[in-house]
Amino acid sequence: MMVVMKKEHSQEDLRAVLDHLQERGLSAHTSIGVERTVIGVIGHIYPELSDELRAFPGVDGTVPISKPYKLASRELRPHDTVVKVGNVEIGGGSTVIIAGQCSVDTPEQMLETARAVKAAGGHLLRGGAFKPRSSPHAFRGLVDEGLRILADAGAAVGLPTVSEVMDPRDVEIVAEHVDLLQIGTRNAQNYYLLDEVGNCDKPVLLKRGMACSVEEWLLCAEYVLARGNQQVILCERGIRTFETGTRFTLDVSAIPLAKRLSHLPVIADPSHGTGRWYLVEPMSLASVAAGADGLMVEIHPDPDRALSDGAQSLTFANFAHLMDGVRALSEAVRRPLARVQ
Ligand code: PEP
Ligand code: MN
Repeated sequence: MMVVMKKEHSQEDLRAVLDHLQERGLSAHTSIGVERTVIGVIGHIYPELSDELRAFPGVDGTVPISKPYKLASRELRPHDTVVKVGNVEIGGGSTVIIAGQCSVDTPEQMLETARAVKAAGGHLLRGGAFKPRSSPHAFRGLVDEGLRILADAGAAVGLPTVSEVMDPRDVEIVAEHVDLLQIGTRNAQNYYLLDEVGNCDKPVLLKRGMACSVEEWLLCAEYVLARGNQQVILCERGIRTFETGTRFTLDVSAIPLAKRLSHLPVIADPSHGTGRWYLVEPMSLASVAAGADGLMVEIHPDPDRALSDGAQSLTFANFAHLMDGVRALSEAVRRPLARVQ
């Protein structure tokens, strides 16, 4: 349920409502907007609650939230949420580019990649240190050492960093080294992991589970928001379909749909969404045209020798070409590449 406060309400009025909700064992998520203050009430909404709340002097009214995800819903927050990662704002009407290697392979290559991302105008550097691989025999990442290499490369060129966390026990160490915590498709519904990143104060990049409906994906975001972490970015990364010509099917329509249903920023990952390097640029352009707040793209100095996901990784030259196209298109659709603050 949403409690809408009167425009002229006082701090005491708000306090009284919050105290009442606390006494009733309900959790309250206050959002102070330019036009109005609303409180999202989560928990057991019993039939008399609405009448009780309407009796408070500062309360204008109550509105039920129809969607199962409450905090992620646009019904609660009509305006776009902007998530700040380092000095980059995601979700403010511009286009943000996250690029880097699938996995951190060597310090030298990571630094080369960081320089290429910076030179082409990218905003964030990615590199996987904890790798969820389909086969246990594949390269599974450099773990802690990988995080250090990524952090050093990001610092060397002045780019904030993002890396995946797979285990609730690793949230602390990953949060120590990077600016944005990634939850991968395979862990999108790992609810203990979502709780744990919800407890921390770093922004979270939440990939869509490869078998999640858009509603289920927003419920995953709800787990993080419910723990108090409001800095969530959604990432469409392709879903499982019958198609075998591509690795997954990038669901471009999910981008404007998720943005309509939720106030959270939505980016697209055409690398995992297609699995083919030559499809990454066209699907990047399609995603920007569909309203994505940004892109996440895998690149590598030597894709043929990458330890993970070489087939979908762009060379630096192809990434620079993609950036030229994205720069032009993002201006045409009035969502220009983000400026760094
Ligand atoms: C990745 O970003 O390298 C990754 C493993 O992504 P996903 O979880 O979307 O497969
Ligand atoms: Mn990858």
